[in-house]
Amino acid sequence: MATPRRGSRPTPQSELITENPTGREKGFKAENIRVIAPTAEDAEVAKRLADRLAAGDGHRINPSDRTLVATIQASYERKRAGVSPEVEDFTLSDHERREFRAVQPTDTLRYLIYRYKYQKHPELKVIEQHPPCVQIEPTSICNFRCIMCYQIDETFSHKSSGFMGHMSLDLFKKVIDQIAGSVEAVTLASRGEPLLNLEILEMIAYCRGKFLALKVNTNAALLNERMAHGLLSSDMQTLVFSIDSADKEQYERIRVNGNFEKILANLELFQKLRETQYPHSQLVVRISGVKLNEHQEIDRMSNQWKRFADVVAFTNYTPWQDSYNNSVNDVTTPCTELWRRMFVWWDGTVNPCDFDYKSVLSHWNITESGQTVQDIWTSEQYDDLRKRHLSGNRGSLDPCRRCVMM
Ligand code: SF4
Repeated sequence: MATPRRGSRPTPQSELITENPTGREKGFKAENIRVIAPTAEDAEVAKRLADRLAAGDGHRINPSDRTLVATIQASYERKRAGVSPEVEDFTLSDHERREFRAVQPTDTLRYLIYRYKYQKHPELKVIEQHPPCVQIEPTSICNFRCIMCYQIDETFSHKSSGFMGHMSLDLFKKVIDQIAGSVEAVTLASRGEPLLNLEILEMIAYCRGKFLALKVNTNAALLNERMAHGLLSSDMQTLVFSIDSADKEQYERIRVNGNFEKILANLELFQKLRETQYPHSQLVVRISGVKLNEHQEIDRMSNQWKRFADVVAFTNYTPWQDSYNNSVNDVTTPCTELWRRMFVWWDGTVNPCDFDYKSVLSHWNITESGQTVQDIWTSEQYDDLRKRHLSGNRGSLDPCRRCVMM
């Protein structure tokens, strides 16, 4: 049943949202991404892999990861030979090769294994003890009201809704302690703007040396000098600035409460500090928007923003702003999120995705005793969700039956 609404919602700017996805794959369509900075080539990746195996790194990983590395090596050989890929084959995409360039040589296998699990396990429906990625929400509060976002649902974002709050540093550390050493990818973002949490820089600092793919997504509105230094002096791998347009008018109509000149000034400041005070930073900066309509052109977007970024992209759109009222659809493909990511929200609620921003699918809270990331990920209830998707029965779950994510 649809979640009842309370209060009024801003009028959707429907002419700005003309995409009408009937199915959505995670990530970027090739035509919607521009890698600005030089990337590694396939041959370079294959050579680094071979060098590290020759250096004995293969003996320092467990047997199942060793099998996986052999699969990756064979994938590169098949690609080089022009042979059709096997179903388990995996080679890095353009933007992954950009990240790979920044990876220390000693972390070569570690990075490739992590990317394999992130990309291929959801496709092959493999579950290990931990999710490939944990997305932690420093706050559910946002200073913007973007037209494609659940923040425009006042039954969610109103301060009296019960859904709004900041994660405590103690809870954050508890989650990090559970996953460090077992999970490589951690994203600090979900339903709110992470920089609104006053302890965000302490959170990022606590992650130092623990992950191979720490990422923060921000709208850049609060990117002042102190914040820029905190982000640039961390060992975070990826910083994403969420910007959807090269054009002021369109940007401000999509990112409601956003000020184009202010964002531009913040990025100027960040880039100046990055170049002058952190010239050896390995941080990959991505400017990424949501593709809502045909007027958002990737080349214009890239030309406007490339001086601040290593990658410029549009992600595929999902109608997040109306998760519980979208029409029921006939998608039967299992949703890859159930094999890829787990979300931990500010109050400890654990959820499989943020399309379900009110946690209808959730049975879990990390603050309760006996509930760890590992326990929840491998729990019967989580597995029941996967089984229902695998049996073509996602229509029995709300909001999965209204969601196009595949
Ligand atoms: S609502 Fe269901 S189908 Fe949609 S992203 Fe979440 S788990 Fe996947």
